[in-house]
Amino acid sequence: MKRKRILIIGGGLAGLSSAVFIKNADDENQYDITILEASPKFGGRTYSYFDKNYDTFFDNGQHILAGWYKNTFNYLKTIGSSNLLNVQENLEINFIDISGETFVLKVPGVIAPFNIIFALWKYNAIRLTDKIKLIHVLRLINVEKFNDEYLLSVSADILLTRLKQSECIRKYFWNPFIYAVFNSPATKVSAKMFVEILKHGFSGRKTSNLIIPKTDLNKLFIDPALTYLSNRGVDLKPGSRVKRIVSENGYVSSVILENDEAVECDFIISGVPFFSFKRLFDEKEYPGNFKDSDMLRASSITSIHVFFNEPVPETMIPLNSLGMNGLIGTKIQWVFRRSNVHLSLIISGSDFIKLDSGDTITAEEKAHISNLAMKELALCFDGIEKLSLKGVKVIKEKRATFIPDNESYKYRVDASCNIGNLYVAGDWTNTGLPATIESAITSAYNISKFF
Ligand SMILES: Cc1cc2nc3c(=O)[nH]c(=O)nc-3n(C[C@H](O)[C@H](O)[C@H](O)COP(=O)(O)OP(=O)(O)OC[C@H]3O[C@@H](n4cnc5c(N)ncnc54)[C@H](O)[C@@H]3O)c2cc1C
Repeated sequence: MKRKRILIIGGGLAGLSSAVFIKNADDENQYDITILEASPKFGGRTYSYFDKNYDTFFDNGQHILAGWYKNTFNYLKTIGSSNLLNVQENLEINFIDISGETFVLKVPGVIAPFNIIFALWKYNAIRLTDKIKLIHVLRLINVEKFNDEYLLSVSADILLTRLKQSECIRKYFWNPFIYAVFNSPATKVSAKMFVEILKHGFSGRKTSNLIIPKTDLNKLFIDPALTYLSNRGVDLKPGSRVKRIVSENGYVSSVILENDEAVECDFIISGVPFFSFKRLFDEKEYPGNFKDSDMLRASSITSIHVFFNEPVPETMIPLNSLGMNGLIGTKIQWVFRRSNVHLSLIISGSDFIKLDSGDTITAEEKAHISNLAMKELALCFDGIEKLSLKGVKVIKEKRATFIPDNESYKYRVDASCNIGNLYVAGDWTNTGLPATIESAITSAYNISKFF
């Protein structure tokens, strides 16, 4: 039997996990797979690199997983790196605000929804009447009170207003949650996607748990996948940018690389991001039933790595078991302790966060962002300003995710189209999830079922 050739364009998580899932089920070794990645390295938006000055690996941004990331865990198990996850037993987040007061959201190990109800009941940041309103929201969502037509017409912000959520609940609960999951403010999040995520997150005993890598992103997600794939004969081609997909009579026959080489194939899987997808086609060959993926709008994440010459005392920052802390009332949203001398700070949705100058965080110069970060750390953590600072490094990822508003539903494409042998994976495709690792890997898992 002649083996079929699958070309995968893009070696981010969607491309790599497509190959992993297909090869994992390919008992009869029917498929030859080649992954064409434009960049010299694999990983896409999930990558780490070594910095000589600091003698350490940097991630492009702290990645957090949640207990409901089912396909992600399958992927990590298959490539053999799930032991490199730091998994919370139950959700526990410590918050601190600019007055230095701390608040703990701690879910007990009982069945849902009692686990989250109990946690909110004990959450000391909000008043009793607000707690009742907040628990009411989670209850209403589970009884499907809102129909899709309504949810697709309003933002999460409008839904929360309708559900009488006070400024205080938003500040101490919804805003941190929404920025962390959607990388955008509530006004820019579709109520439909918001409700879907609440259902995923709060439906089980462990679905709301947070999980972080024990190591850098490459060692968890990328290097073990490359080993798994090369052991199974997958041809990995970094530095191979695809210029164009050639299709005729509803069928892709080949792709053209940047050096004009044509590569033939039986099937093609695109794993490129939304801003690159449409460019792969000649205008007249763009699949008729595909939407205008380039109309999705990007949202950025800014990461700030702070290095000290001396250890940050463990008692200075009220960390949870994952070594993280949420900040309230500041531009910085999360602090992670990467080592005793290295803190990593996160500002999600940094295009939407304005400074006194009127500029957004994303537009601001890196030196100003560093100063702001140090000022905010000093406001929240007593004595941190007295520690000797080695240096600060700012990484802006301008197209970290897409903005998950109601418009976004118009531009996310399905896995298959009217070109019979073309499949589309990626965090931006029609998975119903926001742009996350789980969306990228779910899209790949869904495609693997076609093979
Ligand atoms: C700073 C940051 C923090 C994040 N935090 C989280 C988090 O905490 N939790 C979470 O779940 N998600 C998080 N995300 C989102 C997550 O990283 C992405 O959703 C996921 O990595 C997307 O994977 P992908 O494979 O769909 O796309 P990508 O990673 O963008 O991969 C696409 C690949 O295609 C390649 N490519 C593009 N054009 C071509 C071409 N013409 N030819 C060949 N190759 C091409 C690119 O080089 C790239 O390698 C974060 C993202 C960032 C940037």
